[in-house]
Amino acid sequence: AATDESLLPGRVVSVHGLKSKVLGENGQFYECAVRQVLKSLNIEQRNVIVAGDRVRFRAESPVDGMIESIEPRGGVISRTSRGRQHVIAANVDYLLIITSAAQPGLKPALIDRFLLTAEHCGVEPVVVINKVDLIDPVPLQSMIGVFASLGYRVLMTSAETGVNIKYLHALLTEKQTALAGQSGVGKSSLLNAIEPGLGLAVSNVSLDNEKGRHTTTATTLIPLAVGGAVFDTPGIRQFQLWDIASNEVSGLMPDLRPYVSACRYPDCLHLNEDACAVKNAVADSRIDARRYDSYCHIVEELLIEEGSNR
Ligand code: GDP
Ligand code: ZN
Repeated sequence: AATDESLLPGRVVSVHGLKSKVLGENGQFYECAVRQVLKSLNIEQRNVIVAGDRVRFRAESPVDGMIESIEPRGGVISRTSRGRQHVIAANVDYLLIITSAAQPGLKPALIDRFLLTAEHCGVEPVVVINKVDLIDPVPLQSMIGVFASLGYRVLMTSAETGVNIKYLHALLTEKQTALAGQSGVGKSSLLNAIEPGLGLAVSNVSLDNEKGRHTTTATTLIPLAVGGAVFDTPGIRQFQLWDIASNEVSGLMPDLRPYVSACRYPDCLHLNEDACAVKNAVADSRIDARRYDSYCHIVEELLIEEGSNR
């Protein structure tokens, strides 16, 4: 059916119940059902169709359709909860880690955490430091240099004065981008600077309520005039160290990764162990001390969580 000439290509903008809103390549939106046979292919029913999926569908009216096939997914942001995988967004080209240089002040440790999550999901991260109009950028150069030396793209922007907005615009063109970052750093302002009037839904709903129960927070794909789209979901904006185990962290950090196999103990966590190649590399500055400090905080936090879940 995938080669059927009468099928239209489109991408899933949102999913609500059994229906999906699909943006056809013709620029029209369709409310689509999913062919039953596709559902049976996926054991996890909830992940049959998710925002960002590229599909082929049959238009049954100018506003309704039937999804006949789903293309294999590229970068996926997902979370495992009670042993079940929840796909939050599909075909994610970039994870934009948005921070601000001031108001709220820059938190490099938070960038490290988001980078870990991007590495874990296999999605390319781009670090954005917004509100550069409020600071002298010179003191930030060495920290940015460390991220850049690890292969991460870092972009300093100002939604206020327009610094690097053109570059950000070009980056998002024809890509599907997820946004992460604390509230107040300027996510809505940056999107508005790129495309005035682009609505970013405001929501304070957290992915887990206080009883730890899973609450659905629908992901929406917001198409950009330039052809790309951004994912809007409070879940992605706030996402943290999901599904990462304490002993996986060093493998997800490109600066620590090259050393881990040289430690004396194969299960070395690089905290207090003897003959630790990671700690030796920190001692002679082959690993940035701030990044290692971040590593220690993350692993200690995960060890506490793992201990309490046992
Ligand atoms: P969000 O919560 O991440 O979506 O952040 P907002 O876009 O709502 O911005 C929060 C506040 O920061 C607003 O008062 C914006 O006007 C301000 N702001 C956003 N970007 C910039 C910037 O580049 N420079 C300055 N000085 N203020 C900014
Ligand atoms: Zn070690």
